[in-house]
Amino acid sequence: LLAKLETLLKSLNTEQKKAVETTKGPVMIIAGAGSGKTRVITFRIAYIINKENCAPNQILALTFTNKAANEMRSRVEEILGTGSTRGLWIGTFHSNFARLLRQHADRLGFTSDYTIYDADDSKNLIKQIITELGIATDVLAPNAVQGKISMAKNRLVTPEQMSQNASDFISEKTAEVFYKYNERLQKNNALDFDDLLIKPIKLFNEHPEILAHYQERFQYIMIDEYQDTNRAQYIVAKMLAGQHRNICVVGDDAQSIYSWRGADIANILGFQNDYKEATICRLEENYRCTKTILKVANTVISNNKEQLEKTLYTSNETGEPVTLFEATDERREAEKVAMAIRERKLSSGNQNSDFAIFYRTNAQSRALEDALRFNGIAYRVFGGVSFYKRKEIKDIVAYLRFILNSRDEESLLRIINFPARGVGETSLKRLKDIAIEEGFSLYEAICRATHYDLQNRLISALNDFRMLIEDLREIAQQHTAYEVVAELLRKTRLLEILKNENTAEANARYDNLQEFLNFARQFCDKSAEDPSLNAFLQSASLATDQDNADANGNQVTLMTIHAAKGLEFPVVFVTGLEERLFPLNPDEPRELEEERRLFYVALTRAEKKLYVSFAKSRYKFGQSFPAKRSRFIEELDGGSVVTEGGKLLDEIRLQDAEKSRYHYDDSEYTSRSNFSDRAQSRRVAPAASRQTSLTSSSAKKSAIAVGMKVQHKIFGTGKVMAVQGSGDDTKIKVFFRGAGEKTLVLKYANLTVV
Ligand code: ATP
Ligand code: MG
Repeated sequence: LLAKLETLLKSLNTEQKKAVETTKGPVMIIAGAGSGKTRVITFRIAYIINKENCAPNQILALTFTNKAANEMRSRVEEILGTGSTRGLWIGTFHSNFARLLRQHADRLGFTSDYTIYDADDSKNLIKQIITELGIATDVLAPNAVQGKISMAKNRLVTPEQMSQNASDFISEKTAEVFYKYNERLQKNNALDFDDLLIKPIKLFNEHPEILAHYQERFQYIMIDEYQDTNRAQYIVAKMLAGQHRNICVVGDDAQSIYSWRGADIANILGFQNDYKEATICRLEENYRCTKTILKVANTVISNNKEQLEKTLYTSNETGEPVTLFEATDERREAEKVAMAIRERKLSSGNQNSDFAIFYRTNAQSRALEDALRFNGIAYRVFGGVSFYKRKEIKDIVAYLRFILNSRDEESLLRIINFPARGVGETSLKRLKDIAIEEGFSLYEAICRATHYDLQNRLISALNDFRMLIEDLREIAQQHTAYEVVAELLRKTRLLEILKNENTAEANARYDNLQEFLNFARQFCDKSAEDPSLNAFLQSASLATDQDNADANGNQVTLMTIHAAKGLEFPVVFVTGLEERLFPLNPDEPRELEEERRLFYVALTRAEKKLYVSFAKSRYKFGQSFPAKRSRFIEELDGGSVVTEGGKLLDEIRLQDAEKSRYHYDDSEYTSRSNFSDRAQSRRVAPAASRQTSLTSSSAKKSAIAVGMKVQHKIFGTGKVMAVQGSGDDTKIKVFFRGAGEKTLVLKYANLTVV
């Protein structure tokens, strides 16, 4: 075992080794992208368990995503053997503190079965409260209120303080909603995401003996992505490290991209103030990127004024130039991305999972998905509407939550008439009134239905519901989460109902429920330590965009840049480089700098090859708007194409014919002057073969007529709806089954008559 650890230490550079071996006292590693920060944390855990003879449960490791935590855990097990991490507290702030709170929830007036409300649940609740206050939601927008409440919580501002500082109607009402919102969470025995971070602080302040217990227990604390911690996270970490002071934080100020969520870069700057004896490590060698990619990324970030001095170099190869391409619109941009993927798979032996496509906003994924689908390229989107946000999944989760926490009225309202059991709006109103009159919770009123003057049919429906819940509750006490879910599906006959419905939508829901069941099973297999419903729900509630990543799937990854933090891919596309999209808001200097950091994060995810693209027009709100090339593009090579080290950027501009917005063909790319031979040959191969089939097109122009069935390379089969113009200008309108109506220039459309 020790030999293994020795080899492991040998695989680190001097500074990394120092960071791993300095186990005592505070350590801060501030270093650029890809310099091995995460690797250092991982090795440090293994090193401490082994060399310091420390029990895993005395280590607290805080990562930015659950996925990162799982990877770290399995890496440590690879080094030290299976089971070696048993008891290790590793996970996000949210998951670690959700777990800690379970053990002491009673001290805060909650039970250990409290429900975790995700952002949607919170928003619904806020909306409801605004309505109850008799305010229109266009006067007090739930989204904005939610943002303000969340911000306040993270800065440890109470509703009372917010109210004192309120100077106008909107802020006064926001404070009132904030107050009621907290009250309702308490009543429902529920915590929102922000509570998971701030309640521990309250717990520790009010119960110093509990704090002392954890201070004693956690001999070593490690935090990855420290630049994105917020005030609450900073405080709680400082509290816990208070006794042993063995706290190691790693981060990169140039990658701080969550200030909109309350992240505070001052946490890095303040570390040395809090821990004057801190050891500072600098990692200066990047192991991830080619020289070209690193050079481009460094050039971009050097435009930011506010940043710590850092050096970052790489011994990796120079690699290929960055390819920049422009497109007429977002569909064309997406097609070019898809084409480049196809091309690279042939020319460079890359496979789908080597590629990642990044965008600034979730809405941009649509066009990209279409193009990948048309090209038969398997992909996976992270974020957007996540699995757990789908209606049928939320319904099931509401059942599971309610089984554990019968105070959770939001969940109760979701399931009381799902599947339909004849408890309509009027009956529900009546029950709510009874509950208020008698001072019961809604569920208590339901349980006592026989005592009130209600229709027999309703009473019997409510009784059935109560029995269902009580049965499941009993099962949950003795069985695994998987068994509870299976039993729930059986008893409610949900799968059967959907199967009988047999519409496309019902079938999709059926599949999703089956998948949920699989999730539950996998969870129980994986978490033999605690396969309870409670643990399963916690993991489901805290699942993030990145967690669905399926390491085995050979698929292209699509995600926002925010979700891409910490990851790496051989080939990366950064799309939508347009003013007011990326950077999204360039007017405010601080925001512009954050957008630039985001761009830096995107660029430094790439190992071998980087593509950057923009469109000259883009659809927004159902309308096409002209778009302007982003200022960030000029920052890539500081304005010059050739620098000392060679060519950095390879710009591919629109060909004349392509400038017309009607062209959905795949005509050849043209390039800015003097591109290298390698770049040229890369482009020529597939484009040329398409060109040939275009001229020898089997769809003879004269032969094309309305009503004909045609086949298009990308859009599939379709029917000709109209033919306009003549000769080279002939345009045809085709309705494609998969892609809808398209207007194509016949000359370029490369159609086959079928
Ligand atoms: P980011 O800032 O993006 O989070 P990071 O600093 O956490 O990056 P890692 O992800 O830990 O960097 O490392 C980047 C890549 O370099 C990984 O593939 C890692 O395995 C590799 N790497 C790190 N250190 C070394 C080393 N000493 N020798 C070889 N490879 C290394
Ligand atoms: Mg990292």
